[in-house]
Amino acid sequence: MSKFIFVTGGVVSSLGKGITASSIGKLLEAKGLLVTLIKCDPYINVDPGTMNPYQHGEVYVTEDGAETDLDLGHYERFTNAKVTKDNNITTGKIYYSVISKERKGDYLGKTVQIIPHITDEIKHHIKKVASDQKVDAVIVEIGGTVGDIESLPFLEAIRQLRLELGRDYAVNIHVTLVPFIKSAGEIKTKPTQHSVAALRQIGIMPDIIVCRTEKALSKDAKEKIALFCNVEPNCVINAVDAKTIYEVPVNFKKEGLDLLLTRLLNIKHPDGNLSDWEHNVLKRIKSPAHSVEIAVVGKYIALQDAYKSIYEALTHGALGNNTRLILKKVDSEDIEEDGAEKYLNGVKGILVPGGFGHRGIEGKINAAKFARENSIPYFGICLGMQIAVIEFARNVCGLKNANSTEFDKDTKYPVVALLDEQKKIQDKGATMRLGAYECRIKKGTKTYEAYQKEKISERHRHRYEFNNNYREVMQKKGIIFSGIYPKKDLVEIIELNCHPWFIACQFHPEFQSKPEKPHPLFKNFVKAALSISK
Ligand code: GLN
Repeated sequence: MSKFIFVTGGVVSSLGKGITASSIGKLLEAKGLLVTLIKCDPYINVDPGTMNPYQHGEVYVTEDGAETDLDLGHYERFTNAKVTKDNNITTGKIYYSVISKERKGDYLGKTVQIIPHITDEIKHHIKKVASDQKVDAVIVEIGGTVGDIESLPFLEAIRQLRLELGRDYAVNIHVTLVPFIKSAGEIKTKPTQHSVAALRQIGIMPDIIVCRTEKALSKDAKEKIALFCNVEPNCVINAVDAKTIYEVPVNFKKEGLDLLLTRLLNIKHPDGNLSDWEHNVLKRIKSPAHSVEIAVVGKYIALQDAYKSIYEALTHGALGNNTRLILKKVDSEDIEEDGAEKYLNGVKGILVPGGFGHRGIEGKINAAKFARENSIPYFGICLGMQIAVIEFARNVCGLKNANSTEFDKDTKYPVVALLDEQKKIQDKGATMRLGAYECRIKKGTKTYEAYQKEKISERHRHRYEFNNNYREVMQKKGIIFSGIYPKKDLVEIIELNCHPWFIACQFHPEFQSKPEKPHPLFKNFVKAALSISK
């Protein structure tokens, strides 16, 4: 039977529960256990696919095509867990399923209630992931902050689960903030006490308290928290702000968290070893030999979380080249106002990530033009490929005002357009081309040089596609179609002839990059950027 680790959060949001859960996964994997992670999101949307990045941050896409919370990205980057659509549960999903059952008459005349029907559905879902994925341990992260109305059914479900599973099979970890008050020169434990009190009121007793803090807690402070929160002092774990998120598993190990978990869950596994991780990831991030400046041109630049996987994959690409990444975040609307030169002059690589809607498009097109004309390595991802195609059509092929039908329905040259199967679709939720598709790479291209193989699989999230009617004219002018989805003959990757490195893909490679295994396109993009800086 799988062991369960429930992670809740208190005091404030954005405490790094996702990184905490992922780091615990890493620690358990280091002991040789098979793990998976589940994120429970208390909002009513069925999935975050329809949400604005400003509301939610990045939408992470799983191999099986689910649009999920960005924490699932951390889960996959830190561990070998293969997350699926089932690894993200939302209130919307749970209610949808309960209401569908009610309409079918499955509840046999009963009044359908939050307890037991909603909570049973949550428990069933969590247990199903454990049995389907055949893992030794399941880490369940509850989104939101204790005290929110929304998360109550999830908390009640894990309270019941803990009771059903019994000792040795479940552990509750509560992540809180321990603020350091500068003027008083001391840390404050009171918010943690209140947060744990709120948890206890609903019947949950945390076994371990992870304290996010600027300054490590002293022995006294740990003892105080232990006393007021009813845990052993060695169950109060420091989570001091780390230089890089990839340091967190190592810090937790130093705090004894892995031994604590082994003891509480009665796991008979050897002491885990993180030395490969320390050597291959941490050492390279902390003391790289080179540095390179790369610009990411997008419209959600102001929000740190909107391009999470892109920034992480770039970091991996850099560490794969023993290089420090200097990230320049450029708002595409600023380029529209002031021109590309002002923001992009001097950068060694330009990346245009995915996006939707018209705002900021012309700025991105200018960024692609600037990269093409000035021989600066360019990496276009999804929308970043579509705008590179538009730019090339307009400025090299002479197709005046060429566009995607997403931005100009009546354009004379629809170089990017909807496939017929997409035209009929009305609903917005889960209706894009989503998840993993096979792609064939053309030998002798820079794309092949990166992947070193012909058959690859990458994850998608888009509606629009390259319009094959323009393949011939573009090929004549110097675009190489270096990746194709063979079943439907769709263009998946393009590159430019006569350019040091200009590759753009219709899929999202950032979702498959890991610190220990940087994605080949990100790695080669950084390599190209490094070589023009020499
Ligand atoms: N808006 C474009 C499309 O739907 C690109 C999507 C994306 O970049 N993820 O095809």
